[in-house]
Amino acid sequence: MYQKGRAWIELNMEHLKHNMEQFRALLPPDCALMPAVKANAYGHGAVLVSKALQKQGVKSFCVASAAEGAELRKSGIDGEILVLAYTHPEQFGDLIEYDLTQTVVDGNYAQELKRDGRRFTVHVGIDTGMHRLGERWDNLEEIVKIFRIPNLNVTGVYSHLCVSDGKDSKEKAYTLEQIHHFEYVVEELHRRGIDGFKCHLQGSYGILNYSELCFDYARAGIALYGILSEKNDRVNASVDLKPVLSLKARLESVRMLYQGESAGYGLTYSAGKTQKIGVLSIGYADGIPRNLSNRGQVLCNGKAAPVIGRICMDQMLVDLSGVEQAAPGDEAVLIGTSGELEIRAEDMAGWAGTISNEILSRMGERLERVAV
Ligand SMILES: *Cc1c(COP(=O)(O)O)cnc(C)c1O
Repeated sequence: MYQKGRAWIELNMEHLKHNMEQFRALLPPDCALMPAVKANAYGHGAVLVSKALQKQGVKSFCVASAAEGAELRKSGIDGEILVLAYTHPEQFGDLIEYDLTQTVVDGNYAQELKRDGRRFTVHVGIDTGMHRLGERWDNLEEIVKIFRIPNLNVTGVYSHLCVSDGKDSKEKAYTLEQIHHFEYVVEELHRRGIDGFKCHLQGSYGILNYSELCFDYARAGIALYGILSEKNDRVNASVDLKPVLSLKARLESVRMLYQGESAGYGLTYSAGKTQKIGVLSIGYADGIPRNLSNRGQVLCNGKAAPVIGRICMDQMLVDLSGVEQAAPGDEAVLIGTSGELEIRAEDMAGWAGTISNEILSRMGERLERVAV
């Protein structure tokens, strides 16, 4: 199989291991990592990443759907796999067949699982303030009721922080409130003699900004892949995180654009002077945001090449004026390093007006994933 064909992702597994060790050193010894490998492990390749993590001793994973969980099981992941979101009752069979732990998304959903009658292993979601997922923290009777449903094997309780990346006092106060709500629910359950379940609350920013917390699991996603959501984000913990993913494509054609000529769909770029341009074999169907049109840059042979014209579905154009050495077949780096230069996922996200989580999780299916 041709692994570095037209466009591909390179995974630095040493960096993944390094990041995992950074998290392990930061987290309390009793807190296990439960990596978020949803959305194809944030575009990195869920099977490749999960297998590497399993080899490093990771025993719990979280995904976003039963289908993602099934894919991991079929590829030999044998730890706990928690589905962080909704599974439709028609797919409840998959939860059992693939031994997946389902999130109880609210009290109503618990009744849905009860009606089905089969025995499900679940973690109960608690809404501590994000108002997206879980039964309300202040609706304790409903939470207790979920524990008493005979066919539910409740092995965990969790919540999610929604402004743990925030640094202003309002955001910090809100996060502390969410933490208190969660701790209150856990204490109340214990007070009623309900025990033997695991607790977890933090994603990447919860870990990095509130590392003093001590729960059973920490659901690290984006930062485990070595990057933050935005370029200017700062976190409290001093950790050294290294990007795992590089995104590369081929320079498929080098050509001239003569002064006054325009290029690409909509002719949105015009040459002020005669220049050398390059065509790359990657486009928006591979996950390059279309609003990178005429924005941002790629790297080629250690030099920067600005994006010109509109991003196409399968191709894009760059200005090669600053790249003396450029020949068809050369590698272009869209995320990663080339010589002294580096483009990070946070950079691409900034140019595209989004966060790196979105850039990565939308990496296309036809990109080959290569572990290096
Ligand atoms: C995606 C997700 C995570 C991981 O979030 P990161 O910010 O990427 O670390 C953790 N918990 C839940 C519920 C999630 O949906």
